[in-house]
This record gives sequence, structure tokens and C-alpha cells, in this order.
Amino acid sequence: MTRPTASPLGFSTRAIHHAYDPYAGDGALNPPLHLSSTYTFPSVEDGAARFAGEQAGYVYSRVGNPTTALLEARLAELEGGEAALVTASGMGATTSLMWTLLQPGDEIIADKTLYGCTFGFFNHGLAKFGVRITHVDLTDPAQLTAAISRQTRVVFFETPANPNMRLIDIATIAEIAHAHGAQVVVDSTYCTPYLQRPLELGADFVVHSATKYLGGHGDLLAGAIVGPKESLDRVRFYGLKDMTGAVLSSQDAFLVLRGLKTLALRMQRHSDNALGLARYLASHPKVAVCHYPGLPDFPQHDLARRQMKLPGGMLAFELKGGLAAGKRFMNALRLITRAVSLGDAESLAQHPASMTHSFYTPEERAEHLISEGLVRLSAGLEDLDDLLADVAQALDAPSAGRLGGDYCY
Ligand SMILES: *Cc1c(COP(=O)(O)O)cnc(C)c1O
Repeated sequence: MTRPTASPLGFSTRAIHHAYDPYAGDGALNPPLHLSSTYTFPSVEDGAARFAGEQAGYVYSRVGNPTTALLEARLAELEGGEAALVTASGMGATTSLMWTLLQPGDEIIADKTLYGCTFGFFNHGLAKFGVRITHVDLTDPAQLTAAISRQTRVVFFETPANPNMRLIDIATIAEIAHAHGAQVVVDSTYCTPYLQRPLELGADFVVHSATKYLGGHGDLLAGAIVGPKESLDRVRFYGLKDMTGAVLSSQDAFLVLRGLKTLALRMQRHSDNALGLARYLASHPKVAVCHYPGLPDFPQHDLARRQMKLPGGMLAFELKGGLAAGKRFMNALRLITRAVSLGDAESLAQHPASMTHSFYTPEERAEHLISEGLVRLSAGLEDLDDLLADVAQALDAPSAGRLGGDYCY
């Protein structure tokens, strides 16, 4: 196939075409979906060579499948990484990677704000097996310098952090971690490679919940790790194959490949809608503060501009009335849907104090910088005017807001 190669291809072109030749095989425009758990060996010698890694080819879908392999090639390309490994969920990515990288006696330094299940895996899972977890505020890199030691193997964070939108300076953290021999893992779920490429800024691994923007349609669970090939081979043959078994099905890999085709378009629209909502919320008298990297008075606005192509589709805001106001707002929503998850076509709202972080005590929420009136919003792909109208009526709703339904088309 002859394609122009003089200039590097753009992001969307690669998201649509990379690593698949539509003229090969049957000439199918779309890559075939490989529904096979196992693969044949022409002879016992071929089988032996494949098991020994001396012959290319598939053996069994827990370690590789042509459909998941295509998704891996595309994600590695888009993140600017050597290799990728896809998994059954975002948690499957983080657990498979950590079980591979860590030994008893090692330490992880993680930011104070983490996705709830990552927090649980570290503090209740890994901690049981002799891994020490230290939480510091990584928005202040001096805290990493103070905490890091010879036992620190991994520095782990999200940026923006879920749910309060704090940003972490990837390049600065990577420099400090590397000077002490630690590796840096960034959960870049909120951004996707269209908005932010942590490997180019010095991170060693990127993990994603592809359930969110990469899939983009709320119809699957998937995860991915991108990083050096040699390390990811170990994750594939140890962390994923033996420790978690969190293997992505080829059908879901196919759907993520479909999602990638529109990723750039969707991220632009998510970001435009989030900015419109953030501007409105920031100026509303019932809102104490709106956390959105695209607002000029966002405290880390400069870092956002350096590190992210667009400010993204996620925002969080704090209502002046605390817990009660948060609940009232949530129940008054009519178009924006009450649900966890994010990155779907539908705008989704959740109230961490009632939902994802309800198992924290109010003191723990305060310590992890999640206020009682905080609402997290994933701006969808609807028309901005309709989203603004819904937010406006929900903010002005009388105390007994009604439980939506009017817009259930
Ligand atoms: C959803 C999410 C995860 C977990 O991903 P799953 O696909 O649900 O396992 C991890 N990190 C962040 C930031 C997320 O939003």
C-alpha cells in the first residue's frame, strides 16, 4: 500500500488507519474481528517455536489476539510509546502493571487524590502483600523530594485528578523520580493521548480506563497500559497472563477501535461543552468555586496550557450549601444523567460525597480534598444550550427537586 510518508501523519489519520492495511486479506475496510480463543500450529515444531518465542504467531488469546493486537499497536502509536497492552478494564491495567513492577518491601508514592478503586487496590490490596503506600500532595513537587527513598519503586498519579481536577506537573515529577531510581506511572484516563502524552514528558508508563473516552460510548469496559516493550512483555506474560487474567475480549477491542476513529472530534466537543458549562458555573452565585483547567483563574492554568492540548471534558464545582445543596442539585437534573463513569456521549453528573467517596468519613474526604458540596460533571456531546438550561434550572430548583425523566428519549 502506498501512502504519503514525507510528513508525519496527523493524530486522527493515525487513529483511523495505523497498523491496518485494508487492501490486504479479504479487502475489508474494517479490521476483521477475531473470535478465537486458541490458534493452530502447523506442526509440533512450530508449536514449540511459538511457545519459546522464536516464531511469531498467536498461541492463545489470554496472551494475544489479532484484534487486541491492532488496538495495542494503535494506542502505542497515539501515546508515542514503544508498546501497549490492553486489558479487561482500567483496574485490570493498573493491577496487572503493579503486580509486575512491585515486590514486598517496595514503596509506592501516590498523590493524595486517586480514583477510589485505585486507592482501594493500593491501600487494601498491595499493602497486604508488604508494599508500602505513601500519599503526598504531588501538586507540590517538593513533597515528593522530601518523601522519596531507596525503597520507592513507583510514583503514581492522575492528572487531572479524579474528582477534584488538581493537575500534576508530569515532567517535574518524572525528573525527581528518575533521579531516585523510581518509575512514573500516570493514569491519563481524563485526557486520552489527544490531550496529553505523559511518555513524551518523561513518564515511564501510561494507564487508561478505555471504558471512558477511548471507547467513548458507555458500552464496554476496557483498559490499557503503554510503555517500553520489554516491560510490557513482562506485564503480558506475568501480570496479565498469570496474576490478574484481566484479558480484554476481542469484541470490546473492536468497539474501542471504532471509538478511536472519532476520538479527536469527540474530545474537541467535550472540551467546548465543558468550557461553556465551567464559565456559567464559575459566575453563578450558588457556586463557591468551579474547578476547570480552561478557566483563566484556575490556579494551575499555566500548567494546563503547557501539558494539555485542550482543557478536556471534565469539570467539578463546589456548591455553597455543602452536602444538602449537592444532593438537591443532583436530584433536580433532568437532562444531565445521574451516573458515575465519564467520557460518554451523554453528560453525566455524580456527587462524590453521596456516591464514589461515600465510604470515606467526612474527615477523610477533607483530607483527600473532596468537599461535601463537590459535584463532578462529565460534559457530553449534546448541545451546549440544552446543558446550560438544565444546570440553570437545577441550581435554582426548590428544595424538593424532582426526579428527572422528562428527557428519557
Ligand atoms: C474509571 C477509572 C478507572 C478505572 O477504570 P475501569 O475501566 O472502571 O476499571 C481508573 N482511573 C480513572 C481516572 C477512572 O476514571
